[in-house]
Amino acid sequence: MNTEHICEQIQKILFKLPFHYEPEEVPFRNGLYFFYEEGESSKHSPQGRVVRIGNHPRSQNRLIGRLQDHYYGGKNGSVFRRLLGGALIRKDNPKDACLKHWEEQNSPICRKCKPIEAEVNRILENKFRFKCINIENKEFRNLMEKNIIATISLCSLCNKPTKKWLGNYACSENVRASGLWNSDYVNNKDYIIAKTDLLKLKRLTIFTINRFYLKKR
Ligand SMILES: [Zn+2]
Ligand SMILES: [Zn+2]
Repeated sequence: MNTEHICEQIQKILFKLPFHYEPEEVPFRNGLYFFYEEGESSKHSPQGRVVRIGNHPRSQNRLIGRLQDHYYGGKNGSVFRRLLGGALIRKDNPKDACLKHWEEQNSPICRKCKPIEAEVNRILENKFRFKCINIENKEFRNLMEKNIIATISLCSLCNKPTKKWLGNYACSENVRASGLWNSDYVNNKDYIIAKTDLLKLKRLTIFTINRFYLKKR
């Protein structure tokens, strides 16, 4: 199977899952999340291109908490927020002095870039939606995060963002080159998902749908 074919299988698996718009809607506490962004599309994914894959790699039961870090936390608690806010600032002015402290983890924000936090909240709320797969096993979850990021970033149909994609203004070259709001694991051929793991992922997704999303009669 070539990368495009593997990616198509992943996108088919994701297709069946419902969208969420707020972290609190997620009905389980361990899993992967997949963000979709308004205006971005791919032939592999008629519902919109996957633009970020994430996880709660270090601790159990933190899926909703991690999503809340992205949606309502500060830029120092979320690399996704640092990327989004940095892109917003750079799009407006590539020489903005705030870029340095905004994009550096643990640097405090200043009075001038404080409103960017609210703007990041607003675009996450209005331009993004996400899906989740329940994966309880931490090791497998971390492996799948890595494998899915690498596979989608290497798919020639999915790594083509539109010209107006906000990520084109991100500081990370990996983001700009992959079309994903991910800077780790992108474009690494060694991490392409293995066939047996793809099957496992499919089974876990069917399990997720049956257990959490199908209305019980
Ligand atoms: Zn500032
Ligand atoms: Zn693809």
